Amino acid sequence: MIVDVVFDLPVSQKFSYEVPEPFRDAVRRGVRVLVPFGPRKMTGYVVGETAEPPQNIALRAIADVLDTEPMLTEEIFRLAEWIAEYYLCGLGEALRAALPAGITLETRKIAALTRSLTAEELRRIQEKSPLQFKLLTALAPKGGMRIDSLQKRFRQRGMLYNLQKLHDAGLIRIETRLIGRSGFEKREKYVKLTAAAGERLEQVRQSARRQHRVIEVLQALGGSGRYRDVMRGISSPSQVLRSLVQAGIIEVFERRVERDYYGELEVPPAPKLVLNQDQNNAVAILQGAIVTGKAAAFLVHGVTGSGKTQVYIEAIRKTLARGRDAIVLVPEISLTPQTVRRFRSEFQGQVAVMHSRMSNAERYDAWRKIREGRARIVIGPRSAIFAPLPNLGLIVVDEEHDGNYKQSDNSPRYNARDVALVRGKLTSAVVVLGSATPSMESYNNSRMGKYTLIEMKNRIDNIPMPEVTLVNMAKERKGIPKSTEVILSSPLVAKIKEKLERGEQVIILQNRRGYSTAVRCDDCGYVQMCPNCNISMSYHLQGRRMRCHYCNYNEKALAICPSCKSVEIRYRGIGTQRVETHFAKVFPGARIVRMDMDTTRGKRGHDRILQDFLDHKYDILLGTQMIAKGHDFPQVSLVGVISADTGLYLPDFRASERTFQLLTQVAGRAGRKSAQGEVIIQTFSPQHLCLQCAKDHDYKRFYSYEAQDRRLLQYPPFGKLALLQLRHTDESKTLQAAQHLAGILKELTSPGEVLGPSPAPLTRLQNYFRFQILVKGDRRHDPAATVMRQAVRLAMEKYRAQSKYSRVKLTVDIDPVAIL
Ligand code: ADP
Ligand code: ZN
Ligand code: ZN
Repeated sequence: MIVDVVFDLPVSQKFSYEVPEPFRDAVRRGVRVLVPFGPRKMTGYVVGETAEPPQNIALRAIADVLDTEPMLTEEIFRLAEWIAEYYLCGLGEALRAALPAGITLETRKIAALTRSLTAEELRRIQEKSPLQFKLLTALAPKGGMRIDSLQKRFRQRGMLYNLQKLHDAGLIRIETRLIGRSGFEKREKYVKLTAAAGERLEQVRQSARRQHRVIEVLQALGGSGRYRDVMRGISSPSQVLRSLVQAGIIEVFERRVERDYYGELEVPPAPKLVLNQDQNNAVAILQGAIVTGKAAAFLVHGVTGSGKTQVYIEAIRKTLARGRDAIVLVPEISLTPQTVRRFRSEFQGQVAVMHSRMSNAERYDAWRKIREGRARIVIGPRSAIFAPLPNLGLIVVDEEHDGNYKQSDNSPRYNARDVALVRGKLTSAVVVLGSATPSMESYNNSRMGKYTLIEMKNRIDNIPMPEVTLVNMAKERKGIPKSTEVILSSPLVAKIKEKLERGEQVIILQNRRGYSTAVRCDDCGYVQMCPNCNISMSYHLQGRRMRCHYCNYNEKALAICPSCKSVEIRYRGIGTQRVETHFAKVFPGARIVRMDMDTTRGKRGHDRILQDFLDHKYDILLGTQMIAKGHDFPQVSLVGVISADTGLYLPDFRASERTFQLLTQVAGRAGRKSAQGEVIIQTFSPQHLCLQCAKDHDYKRFYSYEAQDRRLLQYPPFGKLALLQLRHTDESKTLQAAQHLAGILKELTSPGEVLGPSPAPLTRLQNYFRFQILVKGDRRHDPAATVMRQAVRLAMEKYRAQSKYSRVKLTVDIDPVAIL
């Protein structure tokens, strides 16, 4: 027997292995195996029996089988095959993405010293590279360490690079070791009374008070209980236990405990709601599709506060009633504890939650629960699209426009929304995309008849849409010296005062974290830049440090200009910390809470802030785009936007779309329950179409204008894009490689389809120079970009076959969400 095996590698190649006799029953498609690969052993996935076994080659044999049953169901396997084909990645990479994180880490990379170093050698290394020195001293006492532990310990850029340097110098070796899965399953000790306990009780001496106490506790618990609970308050518990076990009165056993991230989450009782007309209409349409049991796709375009969640809940109820399961995708689950509560209150223990901040073990437990059919509904971020529910009937993609559905920084670069549609087809499920601001792609698809459009135009209880005012900051700053930045306009100050006096809540958006976004010398124009990324660093109050938002490099803020020695250093650009400081001055006594990446570290960072704001422990919630996402705060009557221009002029074709979405979403937080909500947006571009449409809540107008531009330039949804990126630490080498690749691409595609190479808008990141090539496909001739993707695949293979540029890293992103 010979099988094909794939690895977690960016290649489409399959490798054949001989299956030794003892493994023949166990080796099946979807099972993981350990096989020799070069000098190492690697975990691979069995794809199936080799159709045409290669002749005259001595095949190597599988070393071990890692699963007793396939980790991957046939449905998920086929989904991964589609991903590998569409996104031009390795099948092994797609399969790994489909399994819970951590589960595939049976082999870990270890770095170990090859020999001990003399003090003199160490001193020389320390002089040259403090980081290499630190790495070596960390490795010395143990002889070796896992690379992921090293990474945790040295949260420093260039860690891997320096490790590689040490490897090149022959000072360390890097090897792969097998690490078991123990620690994934958590077991807990239990005790119980034996069957014979009754007749043996007399044997326990009257004086053995502690033993009697244990027996009493166990009897009160109905015969068994957790060791921890039973032995609470008993001294020398292990001794007492031993006596009782020896007397045959109690037995010890273990039980698997399931960890539940949301175990302690307070779940309110489900509200009794009467659906309104829009909701009834939407549910009726979805139900029609659910009962047929066939694949179908819908786009629910419902304004903010139109009650979309309730529509999803009713659709799930209908799905469960037909014996099928459901997945609900949310953009970022740590931001939506309210949603989890809402679903739990409706469906209780049937809901499994996948969470980006879960530990590997918690995620594994949730996954097992799903795999074993004990969960009927899965809520989670993009990776939840791979939840192995046995009988999937419905997939909801809430806030389908959100860029978080795309995995941009790692292969496979898939978009969970699009994968949802493919999975829906594979398994005949109904797919519901929902948003107040649908992506250009999805809205276009609904216009083309690929999805059925369901509109919900009114807010619940016919509460009016918030009234939006644009404040022209150019006028506001008249007469104010150029060097002074205006954070708050007078209309916004007046409105906030009014709301605070009435005891209402306010949300303030500023989509930039830190204190100021750049520090500049007024005399010579010097700007403090990140040495790794060539981007201006942001000032952070904490520790008074400058921080790079791309690589997290940080250094002390300057007091004197290093270039001209001037002390006229100015803080420019407004970050959330600066807004917070300013607010504390302008509104003394107001309770302000800030929410951005810097305040939400820790497991429940988000939940705490959101819950406290909901409980009105704060008057003002201030933050980055995090605060705009789907939250339902009934007492918020005013939303202020400090600067709408932050993302508007980014060199990305989605800049307008993203700004429109953000403004509409954040505006939608105002006045959701009772009073007329109000929104004040500060901007230097009040005439910009994007702002005008946001002001009028006019999605369709925005869509049609934006569509004109996109059609003209063949950008999505009218064209298909593939973004190829090359990076290396040597600039000219990167450029040469990019030119070479562009040359191959141009030969394989139609004229005009290949743009570049050009330096990426963020030209240097984390010490890598980045060049990119954009390939545009014409959807009129090639709707699914099959021809275009085929050309790109071929070009990449040709490029990789040449060893000349093998050190220049090449990645491809099909349907990129950002081209920065
Ligand atoms: P959306 O996601 O469309 O912005 P939500 O689903 O968050 O809106 O609903 C907004 C609010 O209206 C929530 O507080 C929700 O509980 C409430 N709600 C939804 N449907 C009804 C209904 N039929 N009657 C009363 N309140 C409702
Ligand atoms: Zn200067
Ligand atoms: Zn940087």
